[in-house]
Amino acid sequence: MTTIENKLQQIRERMAHACGQAGRPAADVQLLAVSKTFGADAVREAVLAGQRSFGENYIQEAVEKIAAVRAMGLAGGQDLQWHCIGPIQSNKTRLVAEHFDWVQTVDRLKIAERLSAQRPEGLAPLQVCIQLNVDGGETKAGVPVEQALDLARAIVALPRLVLRGVMSIPDEAAGFEAQRALHRRATDAFEVLRASGLPGLEHLDTVSMGMTGDLEAAVAAGSTMVRVGSGIFGQREKRITP
Ligand SMILES: *Cc1c(COP(=O)(O)O)cnc(C)c1O
Repeated sequence: MTTIENKLQQIRERMAHACGQAGRPAADVQLLAVSKTFGADAVREAVLAGQRSFGENYIQEAVEKIAAVRAMGLAGGQDLQWHCIGPIQSNKTRLVAEHFDWVQTVDRLKIAERLSAQRPEGLAPLQVCIQLNVDGGETKAGVPVEQALDLARAIVALPRLVLRGVMSIPDEAAGFEAQRALHRRATDAFEVLRASGLPGLEHLDTVSMGMTGDLEAAVAAGSTMVRVGSGIFGQREKRITP
């Protein structure tokens, strides 16, 4: 087994164990492999080990990698899903709309409108999540949970977007219980959306939270998609600018 294959296996085992502890079926939680800063060859190894969904933060890097992986013509390569999980500036929305399958970091109506307008006709609608700021950090991306419903109402009116749920990146908290309580805020916000009766939420199924360090707490709090990078691909080089 390659190292990536081994590590993927370990992460899947951690997820299954966390689901067992939480009394949830293992099929409830998807794994998004966060391949930022790693090359197409690393993605290839993960694809060969059965992984299909990948998360990327830096748009230009991702666009090049997506093309490189596609050019490899891998078995299973037609089924890959690419998720944008990084901050999006207005001048990057077209690239995102043209190259990704999902965008998890929608936190402003303006970005949502541009993504919808720029999504090419020949592609399926873009699957999006609202990024929540669950711990109130003022400089952090994400909408406060109280504003999620208003943003959802605006997103479902956009023709080329499908709202799938919420995502969050809480700060590290001291200990399992504290981390779980933070994650729980995103699940609560998701439940509010689901209970809202808003038309256009038929596909709402995603609570994206939990990373290498805290996936167990996220699964305990109701995550349906954990985003794991270093636990699969190894430590990243520090990056100064995004
Ligand atoms: C980098 C990143 C991850 C993965 O973090 P790891 O600690 O390497 O698992 C998950 N989500 C987002 C938004 C990220 O930027």
